[in-house]
Amino acid sequence: MEQEDLKYKRLRERMVKEHIESRGIEDPRVLAAFLKVKRHLFVSEALMDQAYSDFPLPIGEQQTISQPFIVAEMTQALALTENDRVLEIGTGSGYQAAILAEIAYKVFTVERIHKLLIRARKIFSELGYHNIVTKLADGTLGWKEHSPFDAIMVTAGSPDVPYLLVNQLAMGGRMVIPVGDQHTQELIKIYRDEKGIHQTTLGGCRFVKLVGEYGWQD
Ligand code: SAH
Repeated sequence: MEQEDLKYKRLRERMVKEHIESRGIEDPRVLAAFLKVKRHLFVSEALMDQAYSDFPLPIGEQQTISQPFIVAEMTQALALTENDRVLEIGTGSGYQAAILAEIAYKVFTVERIHKLLIRARKIFSELGYHNIVTKLADGTLGWKEHSPFDAIMVTAGSPDVPYLLVNQLAMGGRMVIPVGDQHTQELIKIYRDEKGIHQTTLGGCRFVKLVGEYGWQD
């Protein structure tokens, strides 16, 4: 293994131990994905050495890659298995989609900023993620053609839960979404079954704005 690769592998192991496992994430699939996905490849070269610290980092276009713990918490909340089809809103750097793609069968990810999507697509193809499908669009509308989804993750803060997304959840489907004002939000988990929609709260968080028809206005 190259020196550089080994350095990042050690940083990754430390990140998982100190910021993820020690804060209560225990789903073995989530931990394995975090050990595997090279987070430093999803940020610019100047930020690579900070990629395994537990804070968000800028990815250009005034957007950020979320802090590792939040990515882990949201992923665990979806309780994914290898047969699941997942919709992600807000591709950004592509890191969260790669984590999902390590665990699930197929990931559909939607981004509204062209430049970010181009970069994410490039890295998905370089890293061989053939189970990630991308689309440039307003993700608050979901992705009807591929619905229903076993899980939906929204990685930008929304004023409410966009109802079209809930409609695209399968029976037994899970969804996580940060809901609140433009500064702080609460992570909401939704579960859909024959009886209806069940909602629980996971805790506070801070995301960039979900901008779209059923989110914030630009
Ligand atoms: N999941 C990302 C973090 C993304 S930050 C990662 O792992 O890096 C939030 C992203 O949501 C930004 O890239 C932003 O452009 C995108 N976004 C905001 N509103 C959106 C919408 N309505 N549809 C699709 N993407 C949206």
